[in-house]
Amino acid sequence: MLQDLEKQYILPTYGRNYTNFKSGKNATLIDSDVQTFIDFTSGIGVVSVGHANEKVAQAICEQVNNITHISNLYVIEPQVKCAESIVKQSTFKMQCFFANSGAEANEGAIKIARKYGEINGEIKRYKVITLDQSFHGRTITALKATGQEAMHNYFGPFPDGFSYANTIDDIEGMLDEHTVAVMIELVQGEGGVQPLDKQKVQALAKLLKSKDVLLMVDEVQTGVYRTGEFLASNVYEIEPDVITLAKGLGGGVPIGVVMTSIENALVAGEHGATFGGNYLSTAASNAVLNILQESKNSGDLDRTFIKFETKLEVLFKKFPNLFTSSVGFGMMRGLRVKDADTLANIIKSAHEQKVLVLKAGRNTLRFLPPLTISDEEINEGFKRLDAALSSL
Ligand SMILES: *Cc1c(COP(=O)(O)O)cnc(C)c1O
Repeated sequence: MLQDLEKQYILPTYGRNYTNFKSGKNATLIDSDVQTFIDFTSGIGVVSVGHANEKVAQAICEQVNNITHISNLYVIEPQVKCAESIVKQSTFKMQCFFANSGAEANEGAIKIARKYGEINGEIKRYKVITLDQSFHGRTITALKATGQEAMHNYFGPFPDGFSYANTIDDIEGMLDEHTVAVMIELVQGEGGVQPLDKQKVQALAKLLKSKDVLLMVDEVQTGVYRTGEFLASNVYEIEPDVITLAKGLGGGVPIGVVMTSIENALVAGEHGATFGGNYLSTAASNAVLNILQESKNSGDLDRTFIKFETKLEVLFKKFPNLFTSSVGFGMMRGLRVKDADTLANIIKSAHEQKVLVLKAGRNTLRFLPPLTISDEEINEGFKRLDAALSSL
């Protein structure tokens, strides 16, 4: 049995479900019993243009039949095109460094901040402030940047200089002469689909600029059209100094980016990644970026968002006994559930009705569907979810 083999050979770091998915198409998945599921998770915001997207598959096949990897000692054409596309769609004047994951992109951001703090100003600045309930990744440094103390158990000692603001309002009072950067998610994802207040973020951006403290925005989950614009930073109308991307960028192929407006933020010998930005990941990403830009420009993306939101609000209103509030925007959405046990029951029941949904934070039912989900898939998914909730 696959389940027994998994238990024997894989470290038990995840609470897994053992449905064995064999194939997919857009927001639909088929398991080994040929049961059809609707996917409202897109692999935690990764498969942004759906499963088995033909254009992405074709771009990958063409690329790997040619060159998969050559190393960053040579110029890599799809990498350069990918960076150009990212920077142009962001509307900012920035340069990119390619990594392979969100945590790795955030490591790059923190290295940029540390170097900036070393060479700008009279004394060395190294402190980075993040928010409570944030999530920035699982490497030692990204984990320390993550404002969830429970996750830090066992893994210390950590790098110095990280502290957590309870809310965005508390950041100003925490700045001192050693602070070099503030790193935030504009909508906390893992923390429970928690958007920050736009006016407060804009005020923070202004304050940090006046103090030469870097604003670093972790858009690993919010980026690449998840929240309606290319970046959540575009939605919030701010210009961060450093931005990181990963999840939705490669359509399922591992890729991460740290981008910055700081000139020569890192130079030869100061950073690197063997696999970062290779032909495979950037060819896939270029296909994803084209598809989503077209979808945004044609109005399809906005129509899909409205359709999803409308259905979600109907569901939210129908079950006031289960849900306390509806949170998030774009296709990064959550319904706060009255308690954690009820949430666990909802996710289980949804799976039985063959619709995949996620948990975030303690009590948030989270939705991160593919941005290309069809009207039929939205209708079917909500029909199943309605049945799941009605059965509780
Ligand atoms: C998922 C996530 C990460 C970590 O990304 P990995 O690819 O798992 O390293 C970092 N930041 C945010 C906001 C995320 O949602």
